[in-house]
Amino acid sequence: MNKANPTIGLLALQGDYELHEIQLNNLGLKHKRVRLPSDFEGIDALIFPGGESTTMNILIDRFQMREPLIDFSKSFPIYGTCAGMILLSKEIEGNQAGVKPLGLIDITVLRNGYGRQLFSFEADIDVELGNSTEKVHASFIRAPKVTRVGAGVEILARYNDEPVMVSSGNILAASFHSETEDNSSLLAWFIRKFL
Ligand code: GLN
Repeated sequence: MNKANPTIGLLALQGDYELHEIQLNNLGLKHKRVRLPSDFEGIDALIFPGGESTTMNILIDRFQMREPLIDFSKSFPIYGTCAGMILLSKEIEGNQAGVKPLGLIDITVLRNGYGRQLFSFEADIDVELGNSTEKVHASFIRAPKVTRVGAGVEILARYNDEPVMVSSGNILAASFHSETEDNSSLLAWFIRKFL
């Protein structure tokens, strides 16, 4: 981490941003909810929570957040989980719901790619964090499946041989929720490594 005492923004239009806030509190980090273009002031990184990407997509446009989010990504790191990963992606397969992803990481995702609510599951997965491997307990809740990974995108974790955590430049995205856990080590790593 380069910056002492950073403030982490939470995209707080919809979804489980409060769970990320609990983890940030556990790590002793300052945070701020981001809903409007004026809320970017003073934040050093942003988290896109899990939730419902269709709703977030509508609210991003209603609150005129699309351009400010894309601009922010050019200079600051972003971590997205589940619905957050969908919004960060370049392309959504099928895309019947017409979600317009922000195109910040070159992956294609399939929404609910592991099945609907009934097929939600938890798994212990190994995440490659630089030179160490961390066991993370991950919740897959109507999770997106990554069906294509572009050149230059690094795969940090797999489940059943399929990518579930990817990174490129200053973007980190996970198909699963890391925020449902008491263990904040993944978030701590993101802050240390990307800020
Ligand atoms: N299936 C949801 C969507 O498409 C994502 C689910 C989640 O974030 N847990 O937005």
